[in-house]
Amino acid sequence: MKTIKMSMAEIAEYLKTNSIIIIPIGAVEEHSKALPLGTDTLTAEAMAIELGKRTKRTVGPTISVGNCHSITFTFPGTMSISPVNIVNYLVDYLKSLYKDGFRRFLFVNGHGGNIAPLRCAIDTVVDVFENSRFSVGSWWLFEDLKDLYNNAGHAGRGEASMMLYLYPELVHKDMFTEEKRNIPYYYVSNDIVHQEITETGIINDGQESTAHLGRKLFEKSVEIYEKLLKELEE
Ligand SMILES: [Zn+2]
Repeated sequence: MKTIKMSMAEIAEYLKTNSIIIIPIGAVEEHSKALPLGTDTLTAEAMAIELGKRTKRTVGPTISVGNCHSITFTFPGTMSISPVNIVNYLVDYLKSLYKDGFRRFLFVNGHGGNIAPLRCAIDTVVDVFENSRFSVGSWWLFEDLKDLYNNAGHAGRGEASMMLYLYPELVHKDMFTEEKRNIPYYYVSNDIVHQEITETGIINDGQESTAHLGRKLFEKSVEIYEKLLKELEE
């Protein structure tokens, strides 16, 4: 049940027995020529909705545009909320929920650039919130998915498979390439990305993507999120 589809009375009723909210957060950014701009948002939202269905917990409004200031920012279609602004946005989002009685916050995150702002926002509110717990789950970093995901990277086999499972009509399979690039461990300015890292925006190849792998990644991720949710509610 999406929070935005519930009435004032329904959310008040929900809060009598629950204090948890599932919050999908993603990005609108280039995902090579094969995948849609909203891959991270669509993936996170699908997981959050499935989690909400299974656990009968509410799913907050999706935060669709994330922080993409580095690496992909200069590619067509990428949108970005700067790190400082997204931290402030998240703090206000959380405070709005807190004043109504929410005390458990589970972020279903679909994009790496959101991890630092999420941490900053949570660090900001922990000082003023009471009796609250927060969890940020970024599916591609789940230890139990390591073998399946196999470090597939941005717009790579993992994300492409997930999209083939969830939204096959949005995947341009003929645009998969064999390009494999690694992002350096140091930070680089965006011009270097084009010159030295990737021209197509892909950081790994999508060639071996299958809907079957996508289903496995999706199912396993939702199971892990269910565990995170239970831990938060204990
Ligand atoms: Zn992505």
